[in-house]
Amino acid sequence: MRFSRKGVLVTGGGSGIGLAAALAFLREGARVAIADVSAARGREAQAAARAEGQEVLFVRGDVSREADAKRMVDRSVRAFGRLDVVFNNAGILIEAPVHEMSAEDWDRILGVNLKGVFLVSKHAVRYMMHHGGGAIVNTGSVNSLVGDADAAAYCASKGGVALLTKSMALAYAKHGIRVNAVAPGWVETRMFAQEAKTRGVSVATYRKHAGAQHPIGRVGRPEEIANLVLFLASEDAAYITGDLVVADGGYTAR
Ligand code: NAD
Repeated sequence: MRFSRKGVLVTGGGSGIGLAAALAFLREGARVAIADVSAARGREAQAAARAEGQEVLFVRGDVSREADAKRMVDRSVRAFGRLDVVFNNAGILIEAPVHEMSAEDWDRILGVNLKGVFLVSKHAVRYMMHHGGGAIVNTGSVNSLVGDADAAAYCASKGGVALLTKSMALAYAKHGIRVNAVAPGWVETRMFAQEAKTRGVSVATYRKHAGAQHPIGRVGRPEEIANLVLFLASEDAAYITGDLVVADGGYTAR
């Protein structure tokens, strides 16, 4: 068990990649808090954990608000007596090219996907620096590396996550804190279903369309991203920091 007795916080843990990672951390012996803006998804995640005979702490909050971000960290530390791992995973996607995007939607996307990583990390690092270090894994995307004409703000946010990750890795290496990011290709989650809906196609049609864009021939599963997150958060990755690691079925290999 790679995370026996460790304290782990997963933001956006109520669904998709975050939920898969939270369950994987639990199976590896961790005590896990999930933070999510949606109470319903928090309850669903707690039920999913219970179905495996596990308990998960749910903290409701919005990562783009500093008071909420601080509370996510504080409640985890209080519940577990320690915080070893943060998976900054909460994210949203609103698709639009620049000329059609409202300033409000721009702020929302950057607020959750980039500022949220900054705010949760800020409070987690303050704790980790004085308590023996830790590991932070941020969620980038293939759009940390390549653009998408219809998702300008999303690409800007995920590009930002890649360099925020490097900056934090440099700042906190001497404090025993490693900071890395994962860059998933398309993964079948709620966000994926929402994209299909935006395009007016069924999930099955979109799965086929999206799968064809990945050399491996299919989209990813949340558990496949969770596997990488756990590796980067574990001692197996003790010499890895400041990296953005793709798990994208070859999407960016072209
Ligand atoms: P999802 O919609 O299934 O899950 C995201 C979770 O984040 C939801 O439970 C949602 O309620 C929560 N959330 C949203 N805004 C929040 C906020 N302000 N504060 C706290 N929680 C909030 O999506 P997913 O596909 O699992 O996405 C997880 C991460 O992976 C995101 O950062 C996303 O950008 C990234 N990602 C997804 C894909 C994909 O194809 N699904 C690809 C690359 C990267």
